Amino acid sequence: MAYKFTDNYKEQGARKKLVEVLRKKGIADEKVLEAIGQVKRHFFFDETFWNQAYKDIAFPIGAGQTISQPYTVAYQTELLHIQKGDKVLEIGTGCGYQTCILLKLGAVVYTIERQEQLYERTSYVLPNIGYKPNFFLGDGSKGIPEHAPYNKIIVTAGAPVIPETLLQQLAIGGILVIPVGDEKSQKMVTVLKVGEYDYEEIVLDTFRFVPLVGDKAW
Ligand code: SAM
Repeated sequence: MAYKFTDNYKEQGARKKLVEVLRKKGIADEKVLEAIGQVKRHFFFDETFWNQAYKDIAFPIGAGQTISQPYTVAYQTELLHIQKGDKVLEIGTGCGYQTCILLKLGAVVYTIERQEQLYERTSYVLPNIGYKPNFFLGDGSKGIPEHAPYNKIIVTAGAPVIPETLLQQLAIGGILVIPVGDEKSQKMVTVLKVGEYDYEEIVLDTFRFVPLVGDKAW
């Protein structure tokens, strides 16, 4: 893929329209909408496909994976209630678009991807467009215990169950957002850790994610 990092009126206008589309679909957190309006999603696409970048759709990014639909990114981000300085573990870096949204909101991001091709590309692209998370290559279904605990954990692939390891790596008062279900559809689940072994779980809307593949997953 050839990378060209320019942002013209066409892309800026399309980004504004995308924000309005997401607002109409129910995204209400102004900070999240502002971040969507600021992160240049076309930077994650080959220039040939820039006309697709601000449609509210998922799109192939190679290695059989997708950049998530903007609505899904905004929905998961809203559920995380990011505060400036939050330490966030993101499982499934993909192309890094969600990572940039978290960074825009002031989070300190630890992001892990199991596909080497995506890990290599994202570790090159993100610093080049001004975003600096902590990148990891490996099986994120086990979390990253050496940097735990995290204030927030976001899983961007569909899991069969909530991995116990992720609950353990959540700080008390922390929030986990994870799609849980079978290969065809998953329910978005948020878990609030209220005590060392106490959790409050809320099951929300249905989505379709690529599978979370790993030791504690599919
Ligand atoms: N949010 C990403 C973005 O903005 O591009 C999209 C993520 S994509 C829907 C899900 C990603 O999770 C894929 O890149 C996939 O390789 C990755 N993945 C699946 N299982 C994983 C695991 N056990 N550990 C780390 N990454 C995993």
